[in-house]
Amino acid sequence: MTDVAKGNISDKGVISKNWEDSPCSLCKASWCCTHLPLLNMKVINRQDWIKIMSLADYNHVLWGLKDDGTWTLYLHRPCTNLKPGGQGCKLHGKAEQPWICKRFSPHRCWYQRAFPQSASLLMIQWDSLRLSWLEDRITFSKEGQLEDVPSWKEMMNSWKGKKILLNHKQNGPDLLLPIGPQKTERDRDIINYKLCFPGVAIHTENNFIINGDYRLSEFYPWQI
Ligand code: SF4
Ligand code: SF4
Repeated sequence: MTDVAKGNISDKGVISKNWEDSPCSLCKASWCCTHLPLLNMKVINRQDWIKIMSLADYNHVLWGLKDDGTWTLYLHRPCTNLKPGGQGCKLHGKAEQPWICKRFSPHRCWYQRAFPQSASLLMIQWDSLRLSWLEDRITFSKEGQLEDVPSWKEMMNSWKGKKILLNHKQNGPDLLLPIGPQKTERDRDIINYKLCFPGVAIHTENNFIINGDYRLSEFYPWQI
């Protein structure tokens, strides 16, 4: 059995056959190629929560709260390798395509299940407005430890079917985030994958910079 048949390697990658046969050809939004995961964290105390709130203010970012309690900050900009029209990878079938993209299987695609609804059993998306709502409902102990949060059902029902509103401020501030591990080939591959997204660059040895001053029309010319 091939790796593709086992679902170990994406048929978007180097060993795929026809694009038309891939589930990706039916995925108009290309969620995986338009949402770059920047940071994962959990909220244990008030400091964590302040970080969540402050990072939501940057341009083109959203938080996803996953069903295991992990918060992931996503940059919502289309990868520079996405073909015009927003479907298909220019590096498809080429050695330069990031390994992480090659190995991702679209046959049980988590993005396809988690992203179309902005609030689902798998993930709830958060913009600044939603976070303000949540801030009124979470509690911390006197020592600053997280005490109580609304149930998943309450959060989901509050936002199900509603769109999130991302920031598109003129001259938005740049965002600095840690690069993360840089030891193995896989680490370097993930760094290169992140650099495929517009406005993402290496700032210092340990930090990425995400340029806040990009206009959405430059990313989605086919949608404007
Ligand atoms: S991997 Fe999933 S989200 Fe990405 S294009 Fe394919 S079906 Fe869509
Ligand atoms: S390189 Fe970019 S467009 Fe290609 S599969 Fe990866 S994220 Fe998508």
